[in-house]
Amino acid sequence: MLYPHKKAGCDMKDKKGILMVSFGTTHRDTELKCINPIETAVKKIFKGFEIRRAFTSNIIIRKQAVKGIYLPSPLEAVEKMLEEGFTHLIVQPLLFIKGHEFHNKILEPLLPYRKRFSGLSIGEPLLSEESDFGQMVTILSNLSASVNGEDIVMMGHGSTHSADSVYSVLQKEIDTSHINLRIATVEGAIGFEKILPFIKKNSGPVHLFPLMLVAGDHAKNDMGGNENSWKTALELRGIKVVTHLQGMGENMKVRQIFIKHIRACKKELFPDIYRRMRDIAETEKNKIPEKVIPRFPAIDSALCYGCGLCYVFCHRGVYGFDENNKTAFVDIPGNCTGHCSRCADLCSIRAISFPD
Ligand code: SF4
Ligand code: SF4
Repeated sequence: MLYPHKKAGCDMKDKKGILMVSFGTTHRDTELKCINPIETAVKKIFKGFEIRRAFTSNIIIRKQAVKGIYLPSPLEAVEKMLEEGFTHLIVQPLLFIKGHEFHNKILEPLLPYRKRFSGLSIGEPLLSEESDFGQMVTILSNLSASVNGEDIVMMGHGSTHSADSVYSVLQKEIDTSHINLRIATVEGAIGFEKILPFIKKNSGPVHLFPLMLVAGDHAKNDMGGNENSWKTALELRGIKVVTHLQGMGENMKVRQIFIKHIRACKKELFPDIYRRMRDIAETEKNKIPEKVIPRFPAIDSALCYGCGLCYVFCHRGVYGFDENNKTAFVDIPGNCTGHCSRCADLCSIRAISFPD
């Protein structure tokens, strides 16, 4: 669901921005691992857009201000971008659900700005469309495989908003896919005590992961801390626990979902560009001789340092990504259109080539 408002098509005078809005964190380590890489990927993919950041949490904004770090709220950031002459704006929430933060801090305050930009589009949070759930189940299935199918408990934030039901929907999808993983939330309907009956004593360790963008206060203290945490509550029941402090923002495939949502906003704001691209693709297709020589990329694995841009960018799903070895690989070469070469252009160390 998008909220576009468009007065004119894209031209050279357009000043385009993407505002990435997360709840925020005061933990620099997880900010660097989980928020910064999403912004870096978006910057590289959406060339011509200036990337800005805002946080929704007033508490975090205040705490950072005490340290001398100024971070705007979404409203302040948008007001400033308007003053600076931005004409087209995409606001992408780095949130999981359309809960209070989305409605109260993003949607309601920013909708009136639709008339003040040539185009304003607000993207979807992580778990919004049907396809998002499919992608998330794949991500969680890989997570389960990474701990050999042992018990996993994930800590989601949850909400008193009705959108909290998203966690139950995701759990159903997880169960349907026979993934050994239970979600519980800090604030929502599926409290920690509700999942305890599913955890069997002496059946091996329970792996705790955050189901949050960052591994901040909740993950470090409420989930994996040494006092009054989920970890200690399980240990008191004689269960061995392994804590994983990895925010979901570290996962390349999670970034891919956000990028898909930004791409949908861009398409809403600049439909003419997409129409032109489709027309060019059609013309190019007609030019291909009857006997087509397949053309697909190869990666020099000695050079690849695993930034993941080729994997995230290729809309044809040609690339796979090995999370353990942090390297991309050509997974389905036959999917390559053979003419765009954008993956090779994106790779800053020229690790991608197209052998003749
Ligand atoms: S091949 Fe290049 S773009 Fe792809 S992951 Fe490796 S370094 Fe990044
Ligand atoms: S050339 Fe285009 S379609 Fe082929 S792998 Fe690269 S980005 Fe994907």
